[in-house]
Amino acid sequence: MLRIRAGRVHPVTAPSFEDGAVLVNGEGRIAAVGANADVPTPRAARVLHFPDAELLPGLVNCHTHLELTQLGGGAKYEEPEFVNWIRRVRTLKDATSADDFYEAALAGVRDCWARGVTCVAETGSTGAVMRALHDLGGRGIVYHETFGPDPAQCAESMRELEAAVLRLRRLATAQLSVGVSPHAPYSVSAPLYQASAAFARREGLPLAVHVAESQAETDLVRDGAGPFATLFGRRSIAVEARHCSPVAYLMQLGVLGRDTLCIHCVQVDDADVELLRAAGAAVAHCPLSNAAHRHGRAPFDRFRQAGVPVGLGTDSVISVGELDLWAEADAAGLRGDAARRALTIEGARALGWDREIGSLEVGKAGDLVVQAVRPSDRPTVLLTVVSGKIVHQISGQ
Ligand SMILES: [Zn+2]
Repeated sequence: MLRIRAGRVHPVTAPSFEDGAVLVNGEGRIAAVGANADVPTPRAARVLHFPDAELLPGLVNCHTHLELTQLGGGAKYEEPEFVNWIRRVRTLKDATSADDFYEAALAGVRDCWARGVTCVAETGSTGAVMRALHDLGGRGIVYHETFGPDPAQCAESMRELEAAVLRLRRLATAQLSVGVSPHAPYSVSAPLYQASAAFARREGLPLAVHVAESQAETDLVRDGAGPFATLFGRRSIAVEARHCSPVAYLMQLGVLGRDTLCIHCVQVDDADVELLRAAGAAVAHCPLSNAAHRHGRAPFDRFRQAGVPVGLGTDSVISVGELDLWAEADAAGLRGDAARRALTIEGARALGWDREIGSLEVGKAGDLVVQAVRPSDRPTVLLTVVSGKIVHQISGQ
């Protein structure tokens, strides 16, 4: 049991208040939240007090590639042409060993915790982050990626995907799920989209797709043209103009549904927003990554006005450098309460986990952050808790 008292408490789904406390029971669930005087102090509880800090739900990062944490030295990799950047990432990944991916994943998960992030929606192809989250006791969804732009590769890609999912599922827990991610329209053929989405639904697994990210992707899907089409030509892969947007294309293929997280969604118009809403799909908004790659701005406010669940995501270190969700909220034009809500309950909703996490409410999982806030400064995370277990703590507290 864990009892945390703080100078200020932000339940997020209820008004904030001064001098409050949260009690997390032995099952790792919130047993009480309220004014300090109203929250019991069972004898068995470990008691912590942070008079000058604030307590809030753990943050939800709706898009990460933590297995890439150390890729290229763990620094941002600048490359003006997105197509070249994608190819460079593939080369770096090919040169990385399984052990190095695992070490990167461990470092990535710990970095998230040090930043107050208690849940990640990870997309990756190595399974390293699933193992890291399992071994460290983290929370998240790990969407296993499948690739294959050539329709002739579909059966082989599906064999690999099904085998990988079977392996990773053994590591799943109440706080750690496996999903499926047909990577992107420039790396996945139409038959592979259909087969992987059908597989995910058959197995009851959530889906994540990178979609409508770059102009080059739109050129490929709509017109069968542009730099990705040139690459296809070099590999003798047939290119087909779909005469529609990337979102409409995935809709036609039956990929988008209530279980689908659509990452980026920059190249979208009002008709696409309506398609996403009608499908019940959610969006992972990554403003800093989109800006770094010069993709443009996603219509964040339009998504929210339309009732499309939107969470904020950082994308990978090689896109943005630091994985700083508060900076993402800033870039999305959110401050104060609006930023806190977007990074907690709204992120949880985008992942379909809002009944479990995202706010300080009795019965929800004890995923919490205590942070010191100084004006005009990033918060300093003093304590991070996942399901009642302390996973990060600044010593001396
Ligand atoms: Zn990504």
